[in-house]
Amino acid sequence: MGTKGLVHVFLVSFPGQGHVNPLLRLAKRLASKGLLVTFSAPEICGVEMKKANPKISNEPTPYGNGVIRFDFFEDEWDPSKPNGNDLEMYIQHLEILGKKILPIMIKKYAEQGSPVSCLINNPFVPWVCDVAESLGIPSAMLWIQSAASFSAYYHYSHNLVPFPSETQPQIDVQLPCMPLLKYDEIPSFLHHSSSYTFLKTVILGQFKNISKLTFILMETFQELERDVVNHLSGIFPIKTVGPLFKYPKEVAPNDVQGDFMKVENCIDWLDTKSTSSVVYISFGSVVMLKNEQVEEIAYGLLNSLVNFLWVIRPPTKVQNFDPILLPNGFLEKVGDKGKIVQWCPQEQVLSHPSVACFMTHCGWNSTMEALSSGMPILAFPQWGDQVTDAKYLVDVFKTGLRLCRGVAENRIIPRGEVEKCVREAMNGPKASELKENALKWKKKAEEAVAEGGSSERNLQAFVDYVRSE
Ligand code: UDP
Repeated sequence: MGTKGLVHVFLVSFPGQGHVNPLLRLAKRLASKGLLVTFSAPEICGVEMKKANPKISNEPTPYGNGVIRFDFFEDEWDPSKPNGNDLEMYIQHLEILGKKILPIMIKKYAEQGSPVSCLINNPFVPWVCDVAESLGIPSAMLWIQSAASFSAYYHYSHNLVPFPSETQPQIDVQLPCMPLLKYDEIPSFLHHSSSYTFLKTVILGQFKNISKLTFILMETFQELERDVVNHLSGIFPIKTVGPLFKYPKEVAPNDVQGDFMKVENCIDWLDTKSTSSVVYISFGSVVMLKNEQVEEIAYGLLNSLVNFLWVIRPPTKVQNFDPILLPNGFLEKVGDKGKIVQWCPQEQVLSHPSVACFMTHCGWNSTMEALSSGMPILAFPQWGDQVTDAKYLVDVFKTGLRLCRGVAENRIIPRGEVEKCVREAMNGPKASELKENALKWKKKAEEAVAEGGSSERNLQAFVDYVRSE
């Protein structure tokens, strides 16, 4: 496949599912607009993606009016060595390695007659914009959380307003153009210590060299977070481009997916269920609930008598967790009312008519996918920006019920509460209200990515800029 003459953008992803998904969606959108897009990430990520999606290849593949190609690099990291599953060390290692090999990769393409016009990264690899600066290439970041969370991190990192701490949890935070945030509504890494606390340093690290970025592309849309986006746009070169998964897709065989695990078919099972009769449950690619909590959810579902589709992932290689166990005899009791899978095609599940609501950890990808699919939410946030997303889903977007308050990591939500919330989100006046609001957001999301919509215009302006470089 010829790539000569195409303007070349080079995307670098951190090897996490929640990072790859939105960046790959951006890659596809840029390619469909006629660019040559190289998608790069550490080889460990490439291995998982290729196992789950045999169509992924390093050969340039036509996509829309442009081309996508994958270029995975060896990360020289052995997960079986002592500290091999220490994510903090891995992130530091990746920076040292990436700063050495990324310039070599970029120069190789220039020598082949395909110079890179823009480097784009997602969070956890902020050093990519240092490399871009050293090579004299413009750079952009795809911010994959909400604009509201961005604002919280920005105000915290610049010490602009007081934030609560573990010893002063009573401090509420008022940020411009945002509702008042309480302790359990502020990205938890900023004030609560847990095994993921190091992510605070990693996320805030993104703000240190932010002035080097030519653009900050955001996986949100203007109509969803209008006030906070307008406010931030006065400070940063922001372009909202989401929801990225909502843009028209190319037909197979060229549509590539970035799943790290084989997708199990659960659509046939959903087809057998009546309209709005199923709760879909997934906590994303990182959260691992305690077995005690899993048991309470299991009995909450059983007692509420609903159908359910539940994603229960095995722990990843770097996670040192025990596998999740369902209570003895649970599956026999549930019979055909419930289906458990290890990984599902979430986009398709969320738009399936049998699904009534989504019990989620409120990762930003899941939040955007649910909002733009018109799907009500049962919010079960654990940590990080998930708690802020839950606040917005419940109080601002008004499409969700919050299942747990407080810092959920330390709490077990009992089965009675699970049952009560599931029933409320499935039937009755609250359920109708949530659905009505969710459908409103779905329509606005569709408009944002349609011809002339806010996100589509922003993306086109970005492509025009890259072309003019
Ligand atoms: N996902 C999926 N199948 C599943 C579970 C999750 O495709 O069975 C996808 C989901 O659509 C989303 C991503 O995994 O794009 C999870 O990202 P999110 O930001 O919601 O959570 P994270 O995994 O980063 O905590």
